[in-house]
Amino acid sequence: MPAPVTAYVALGSNLGDRHAHLAAALLALAALPATRLVASSAVYETAPLGPAGQQDYLNAAARLETGLAPHTLLDALLTIEQTRGRLRRERWGPRTLDLDLLLHGETTLADPRLTLPHPAMLARAFVLTPLCDLAPELVLAGRSMAQHLALLDRSGVRPASV
Ligand code: ADP
Ligand code: MG
Repeated sequence: MPAPVTAYVALGSNLGDRHAHLAAALLALAALPATRLVASSAVYETAPLGPAGQQDYLNAAARLETGLAPHTLLDALLTIEQTRGRLRRERWGPRTLDLDLLLHGETTLADPRLTLPHPAMLARAFVLTPLCDLAPELVLAGRSMAQHLALLDRSGVRPASV
């Protein structure tokens, strides 16, 4: 088992009982082997990208301490998505649960299954807003997460009502 690292996961849901999907995902993350769920962000409601006519998303982020290797953790995230009934149809279409691996320690890699750090994270206010609840000072590409977020349009992201 590799030495534990800090990993960050982005959670999103825009289909069905969105709060329940996020809550179930956090429980499932906490139950992963060799993994501790250290913190989770507030929940935000955000306007969707992609095809029109979709519900707004709920988005959140989680910090893990994990001994799982990057691909093992990715597989676990995809399995959790499946257990919440995710069907993969159109790209960027509605989904019950989307779990993206943002960062896995200092790992950088790009293969057909996994890119780390997540390639779109710095361009997405719906990812950086919850991530900044957990790690505003974390530096990537020469700027802190808070500085990256300040460069983005945040108008589509608001705190979710419970
Ligand atoms: P998206 O999250 O971009 O809307 P999907 O959730 O359908 O799209 O993911 C498609 C594929 O992206 C996954 O099957 C996975 O292999 C790949 N992928 C590459 N890098 C990552 C990453 N850092 N986190 C999650 N999935 C990733
Ligand atoms: Mg995904």
